[in-house]
Amino acid sequence: MTDVCIYQNYINGEFSGLPKNTIDVHNPATGALLSRVPESETGEVERAIAAARSAQRAWAAKPAVERGAHLRKIASKIRENADSLARVITLEQGKVLSLARVEVDFTADYLDYMAEWARRIEGEIITSDRPGENIFLFRKPIGVVAGILPWNFPFFLIARKMAPALITGNTIVIKPSEETPNNCFEFTKLVAETDLPAGVFNVVCGSGFNVGQTLTSNAGVDLISFTGSVETGSRIMAAAATNITKLNLELGGKAPAIVLADADLDLAVNAIKNSRVINSGQVCNCAERVYVQAAVADEFIDKITRAMSMTTYGDPIARPDVDMGPLVNRVGLDKVAAMVDTAIAQGGSVTTGGKIADLGQGFHYQPTVIAGCRSDMEIMRKEVFGAVLPIQVVSDLDEAIACANASDYGLTSSVYTKDLSQAMKAVAQLDFGETYVNRENFEAMQGFHAGVRKSGIGGADGKHGLYEYTHTHVAYIQT
Ligand code: NAD
Repeated sequence: MTDVCIYQNYINGEFSGLPKNTIDVHNPATGALLSRVPESETGEVERAIAAARSAQRAWAAKPAVERGAHLRKIASKIRENADSLARVITLEQGKVLSLARVEVDFTADYLDYMAEWARRIEGEIITSDRPGENIFLFRKPIGVVAGILPWNFPFFLIARKMAPALITGNTIVIKPSEETPNNCFEFTKLVAETDLPAGVFNVVCGSGFNVGQTLTSNAGVDLISFTGSVETGSRIMAAAATNITKLNLELGGKAPAIVLADADLDLAVNAIKNSRVINSGQVCNCAERVYVQAAVADEFIDKITRAMSMTTYGDPIARPDVDMGPLVNRVGLDKVAAMVDTAIAQGGSVTTGGKIADLGQGFHYQPTVIAGCRSDMEIMRKEVFGAVLPIQVVSDLDEAIACANASDYGLTSSVYTKDLSQAMKAVAQLDFGETYVNRENFEAMQGFHAGVRKSGIGGADGKHGLYEYTHTHVAYIQT
């Protein structure tokens, strides 16, 4: 029997010993047991929050450039270990190695980018109505942040939370997803090799109903920064209500892609196919429903069906050349299969795929296109975390925008056209946090990633994402 790695929580600058209770982590491509991780007890979570609390003032008192230097050191360590980190991500999450490598590199760049803000965090001086008075507006850290992560981009999400939190003077307790915690512990090992002060960065692992619930209902947490599903976001809001804890919620999406008659069809097909296939379709902002104008509908469906049917899949470690790995777990696979079955029962017609793929092992679903969809169908309304593309034919841009906006989700959207006025009309009228014109995801670190409606509260990245980790303190100074 091979030795299985048992990871430990990281609290107050130390790994906290072998856990009493553990959760098994498996490779979704093979079923192999990869590690055992802590199912932390309440006291352990409270200890992490207390460590973050006692480290916070001294951390915030450091010049921001020093805090930035700590982030840069972690970024360098990540670059030195990029290949092995990518492998850890692929093994537990299932994304192809090339994408895992992009995730690792982007994470290092993100830490450096946030470090650059050290000299750019600005307050304001506001003109007073009173003679001899100055009004100063300071941007101050909020305090202790709880960062709760999903499994789909688990490594990058650590940085997306800890980098803006730390550069602005907060400390953090991270809870990785119990599906993909190994990469977070590998990240933590690298942090531990640097001289980051104890208590600034802590990791406690465990299931959502246990560790997640304890973190979000604890009065010692000042900001909950959560990325995950709408259902969990709603539960977290309820838990946060007890202590009126500030929230930053990055939730699900159902991104519409609008393809107009004048679009460069090959560009649209390529971009939408790649978006739907990347990370096996498990991305909050990938194209999840297409509205194609009637004049080009047949040609578009024909081309995208061909492109999706040529997508290769399998175990991304054994076959590094495949386009897609497995879905993250059995529950995810069954959910996708059930949604496709419902779409067929509701009148959709599968032009390629439509079944669980039998590779002998792993949670694979065939790349799928469903034509003939309507706005009332479940597949056009609910998030489908798999490479399944439902398509609805529309008469014009107005109809497409109306359908796109009639959704619980409002994260990202896209439009394909060569006509600038049509593109600008779509940008003006799409009620979403982001719109891509003639391309699909991903977002840029200097932009602002945020959703409206049930896709979340607040956002991440860039200046506006950074300031989500500060509160404003105004001083009225009479002289
Ligand atoms: P999830 O909501 O099931 O879990 C996310 C995290 O929340 C996990 O760490 C989980 O343990 C924890 N959790 C579960 N119940 C909890 C509770 N009651 N209290 C506190 N924490 C709890 O989401 P997931 O399946 O890991 O991720 C997929 C979802 O994330 C999709 O909906 C996707 O769209 C969304 N997502 C959004 C973005 C974005 O930027 N908007 C990015 C990535 C993923």
